[in-house]
Amino acid sequence: MLQTPAYAVVDAQSPLAPFTIERREPRANEVLIDILYCGICHSDLHQARNEWGGSQFPMVPGHEIVGRIAQVGEGASKFKVGDAVGVGCFVDSCRHCAPCREGQEQYCEQGMTATYNSRERDSGAPTFGGYSTRITVHEDYVLRIPESLPLDRAAPLLCAGITTYSPLRQFGVREGHEVAVVGLGGLGHMAVKLAAAMGARVTVLSTSESKRKDAEALGAHDFLATGDGAVFKSHVRRFDLIIDTASAPHDYNAYLGLLRLDGRMVLLGIPEPQPVAAGLLIMQRRTLTGSLIGGIRETQEMLDFCAGHGVASDIELIDIAQVNEAYERMLRSDVRYRFVIDLATLQPAA
Ligand code: NAP
Ligand code: ZN
Ligand code: ZN
Repeated sequence: MLQTPAYAVVDAQSPLAPFTIERREPRANEVLIDILYCGICHSDLHQARNEWGGSQFPMVPGHEIVGRIAQVGEGASKFKVGDAVGVGCFVDSCRHCAPCREGQEQYCEQGMTATYNSRERDSGAPTFGGYSTRITVHEDYVLRIPESLPLDRAAPLLCAGITTYSPLRQFGVREGHEVAVVGLGGLGHMAVKLAAAMGARVTVLSTSESKRKDAEALGAHDFLATGDGAVFKSHVRRFDLIIDTASAPHDYNAYLGLLRLDGRMVLLGIPEPQPVAAGLLIMQRRTLTGSLIGGIRETQEMLDFCAGHGVASDIELIDIAQVNEAYERMLRSDVRYRFVIDLATLQPAA
């Protein structure tokens, strides 16, 4: 076993602190990855603080992992030592059910094995995420990072990127579509960049008036501050698609009114349950749906799309010691637009 430095939470009330975990030498078809960068997703915070219930402690969060192959297990043939690779939100699935066979492993009927806060299928051992210096993963669940992408700015693509790319693709976003993005944080800023790259007219709906200039710089064509509620009256029936990334409770019904006939609102944020008015769905045959990350094949497609269109995340690179402060800033919506941990700053415990 390889003693590996990490940052963990030991219970839902404690801050992240140095911790040591064990990673295994790669078994057949596995690879060992030296982690260089790991993005901080709001889901890390939700789970570290047990906001969804059922969290397992100690927990090492992190599912936006980028690094280089350090060792290749017997029979593994997709990668060689030194390759730039990524690991996203899951590291295994049953491989047999219909969603798995279709490459939609995130919807595995037996439940995907999440990168952290989950259990390995064979041993039942807890899985630990990317706030650590290395990880061992089956090569089928590892992504190739295209050469033209800067590795630190590629890390958030493994969750924020694919989570927004997938519903945009499912909808078939193209030129002429009016797309609204609710919440300009990690997911939201990727939704803006990706929808714009697909040719849509993109509008940001934000609670933070201070993000107006940034929204334009990210590629948005319009920016609406939702603070006083006036936009919910003046932009009724405007949008074809709303990508809702807000992490905190908000009134879905207000936003639904902004959809035109046959419009679709996709929920990506996961706050506590909120009521939805049937009348709003019925009146313009609107659709309210959700979407969970993306499968391995689609994630690779997204990475290649980003390389082809010069898209990467806008990040604030931090030392591992700043991770608790980053969580607090994320709670204040003070994210511009993804925190990424530089794992070179995580040294082995003395
Ligand atoms: P984030 O970086 O913290 O961004 C969330 C943004 O939501 C904030 O920056 C803020 O943007 C907006 N917001 C906050 N409170 C709001 C409120 N009360 N009303 C309206 N907007 C509000 O978080 P993230 O990492 O992008 O994640 C967003 C959510 O998606 C989280 O709940 C996360 O767990 C979830 N998630 C889901 C999936 C999936 O597969 N579905 C994958 C990853 C993450 P403004 O300042 O612009 O208002
Ligand atoms: Zn995430
Ligand atoms: Zn399955």
